[in-house]
Amino acid sequence: MPGEVVGKVCVHDVEGSEPLKKVVWVFAGLLLFCATALFLSCQRAGGDWHGEQKLIILGIDGMDPQLLKQFMSEGKMPNFSKLASQGSYRLLTTSIPPQSPVAWSNLITGMNAGGHGIFDFIHRDPKTLEPYFSASQVKPSKHAIHLGNWLVPLGGGSAEQLRKGPAFWEILDQHGVPNSVFRIPANFPPVAAKGETLSGMGTPDLRGTYGTFSFYTDDPAATTGAVEGGQIIPVQVENSQVKASLIGPDNTFRKGSPAATEPFSVAIDPLESVVRIAVQGQEFVLREGEWSDWIRIEFQLIPFFGNVKGMCRFYLKQAHPRFQLYVSPINIDPADPALPISTPSNYSRLLSEEAGEFYTQGIAEDTKALSAGVLDDNEYLQEARTVLAEHRRIFDIEFPKFRRGVFFFYFSSLDLNSHMFWRLMDPKHPGYDAARAAQNGSAIREFYQQIDQVLGEVLPKLDDHTTLLVLSDHGFAPYYRSFNLNTWLLNHGYIKLKNDAGADSSQPWANVDWSQTRAYGLGLNGLYVNLRGRERDGIVEPGAAADALIKELKERLLTVTDPKAGLPVITRVDVASEVYQGRTRIRDPIFWSAITGATGRDGRRFSARFPRKFSKTT
Ligand SMILES: [Zn+2]
Repeated sequence: MPGEVVGKVCVHDVEGSEPLKKVVWVFAGLLLFCATALFLSCQRAGGDWHGEQKLIILGIDGMDPQLLKQFMSEGKMPNFSKLASQGSYRLLTTSIPPQSPVAWSNLITGMNAGGHGIFDFIHRDPKTLEPYFSASQVKPSKHAIHLGNWLVPLGGGSAEQLRKGPAFWEILDQHGVPNSVFRIPANFPPVAAKGETLSGMGTPDLRGTYGTFSFYTDDPAATTGAVEGGQIIPVQVENSQVKASLIGPDNTFRKGSPAATEPFSVAIDPLESVVRIAVQGQEFVLREGEWSDWIRIEFQLIPFFGNVKGMCRFYLKQAHPRFQLYVSPINIDPADPALPISTPSNYSRLLSEEAGEFYTQGIAEDTKALSAGVLDDNEYLQEARTVLAEHRRIFDIEFPKFRRGVFFFYFSSLDLNSHMFWRLMDPKHPGYDAARAAQNGSAIREFYQQIDQVLGEVLPKLDDHTTLLVLSDHGFAPYYRSFNLNTWLLNHGYIKLKNDAGADSSQPWANVDWSQTRAYGLGLNGLYVNLRGRERDGIVEPGAAADALIKELKERLLTVTDPKAGLPVITRVDVASEVYQGRTRIRDPIFWSAITGATGRDGRRFSARFPRKFSKTT
């Protein structure tokens, strides 16, 4: 709830042959939706459908009921007020845990994580403890032949969706109900469908990550190298020229899979704050504080033979005295997608011809660049507004075409921007800054108002045959402080470290002594037992011993108190075997290496020895 200090911890315990057993969750109380109820209304539309009934679903990520109520009472959201007074308006419950991919998967399948198998943004392989994106896996071709330094694949690579269970629009397809589903999360690559679908959250950038920006600077004071969600690349300005490279996907055709790169050059005007950028025969001018249009880039993987297309936007942050150039994550080009992002497969091209280019990356708002200080509040907001403008442009093209069946459209803005700007509307927030609040304290409200405008386009189109559902996957709460679960587990003897100064601390879990470790945290708020027969070095016996440990952890976690606020850190703990139904096996993992960044004061205490923590939320 807004104003409350909340902690989130969940404990997973995933059996090899059983789904999510014994999971403990703690969770913030938020707005929620009931997937089953919604699913039933979809089924009703399918079962009795006789050509006239229509269902419109607006999926609004992270729309908080208390903020909504406040903005409606202030008269800022007249269309929501109208809908609330005319229709049915109620709080719904969210998923366990309240993470977007889990909640949207509940909506998509009508099942909880025991059925669809998505219980966190991040899952792990119990044998290697490597984390991986829960919703999809991108695989290179299995077979290849070696030619010098080249590995020539036999057959193409592929992307696989890991969510289980039929999506509601697959059921609609079976019953002949026309439908289109735009940007719904946890649908990459999109499942086969008869209607038009466009993938959303979970769609990677061209590098296969959730989004990796690049920032080029000649500032010697800048920290260079990988940061969470990006890369800071040192460059030199010589004779007012910068030569650098765009970083593309790993070139699996080459031994060692180095990243493919494409050179670009920047000519800096010696007097004016303006540059000319040249890349692959394209030239454009940027003034300081200006964003480029989408620039198409082709990465050569095998000369004259294999290439992959993407697109990115450049932002000139500063020309003088220091050169600072931001380049967005390289997005999959909708006009020529390197991986499937739509059904039918040519739909994204047709859409881009009509709507212009757009972010295809699932989480397009570059919150990581703001968190890293690469973009400031205003620069990030420009980007976030562009994302919403692109989505509204697609909506404005597709919604008027809707005639029959079911129409779903998803908006990400409220979630991502509430993450970034709650601090400026809440004087109690540790990140509050009065001067910045005066400038951007109304950012969240303005995004809510834009969603209200979208609703304003829909309401006049409703007729007696049309049902409208506006729903969110969860609400929102401020993020004042972090609780580091692994620190707590370490301090209470559940995790033991080796006294091995020579261990490679860049490796996750490098210093953990698994022969004495009984439980570990992984994912956004998950906790797992180090179970014998499942984890590679599991020591806790399945059955009574594991049950007793879970009970003990649950009880102790609920007593943890924030010493500063004097309030409970963890408000709720859920055990998977108690809250999930279904028989989904957890799939084989993919390696996922993009998580970095310890957060929270507690975490830093041993972050040098135990570098990876997963406490950021999205
Ligand atoms: Zn969400």
